[in-house]
Amino acid sequence: AKETGKARALVYSPALAGPPQHDISLEAAMFQAVREGEFLLYYQPIVDAHTREIQGFETLMRWKHPTLGMVPPARFIPIAETNGLINLLGAWALKAACVQLKQFEEVAKRSLYISVNISPRQFRNDKFLDVLDDAIAFSGLLGEQLVLEITEGTLMIDPVHAESILSKMAERKARIAIDDFGTGYSSLAYLKRFPISVLKIDRTFIRDLPGSAKDGAICNAVLDLAKHLDLSVVAEGVETEEQLQYLEERGCQYIQGYLTGKPMAANVALAALKESIHA
Ligand code: C2E
Ligand code: CA
Ligand code: CA
Ligand code: CA
Repeated sequence: AKETGKARALVYSPALAGPPQHDISLEAAMFQAVREGEFLLYYQPIVDAHTREIQGFETLMRWKHPTLGMVPPARFIPIAETNGLINLLGAWALKAACVQLKQFEEVAKRSLYISVNISPRQFRNDKFLDVLDDAIAFSGLLGEQLVLEITEGTLMIDPVHAESILSKMAERKARIAIDDFGTGYSSLAYLKRFPISVLKIDRTFIRDLPGSAKDGAICNAVLDLAKHLDLSVVAEGVETEEQLQYLEERGCQYIQGYLTGKPMAANVALAALKESIHA
């Protein structure tokens, strides 16, 4: 069974080509990868902008292919979304991340939270709430320790259905974060309609801070909006001290980016947490 997904996996075959990068051999390799256990989770710290203490982690999926190396999620998530494999991968990721958080907490000796990306197809899947309940029950986490990251697009596909799912998530005390906030095509009305707790400012608005007056204005507007709607804000993609300082001065409470921690394997995250209690 081992020989299927190897060097052949990246041979591009125009005859079979769908949209760019949707190549069918990569897709075949993914099914094999599930069987071989090649998917794993990385964890990126989300820190308090002021104290820089780790508050939680975002779970980011990785595919470690034996010959291709690390295949980025930008390549395999869209395929999984198209063929439905995302339901299986996403369910696994949610449960594994909840279990992992328990271990993080034991080492850190304090409460943390875990933030998990939920794709549009996963969100719409009939089994999604069962998957959520199973992850919470199996891991023993409190619902409130779980943040589910969805995009504006996910909400807009079917707002009536979204409203019912979100209210059921809220019953479980799980929090909803809007990922890549400001990049989707949607009105702000949904902030009133849906029970949302967190806005994640997209990296594209952070990248050119503090130099860009336009990006500064957008970040300020988001922070102001969040303050008045009682939402928390995470700034994504913070890479420099200047960016962190700029955001902190304007009331941004949480930071996620290479400056305060890259996505890392669980054992590396554990070491960072261990170090933080001795600091
Ligand atoms: P995202 O949810 O917006 O995740 C943030 C991305 O920004 C991650 O890329 C992360 O590694 C990257 N990042 C974090 N800090 C910095 C920084 O300071 N600078 C720069 N340049 N980049 C930074 P990654 O891990 O490649 O993931 C890409 C996307 O793939 C994610 O975007 C998300 O949409 C999707 N994805 C990843 N894991 C999962 C998953 O488990 N399920 C689902 N449905 N989607 C996932
Ligand atoms: Ca995310
Ligand atoms: Ca994001
Ligand atoms: Ca993104």
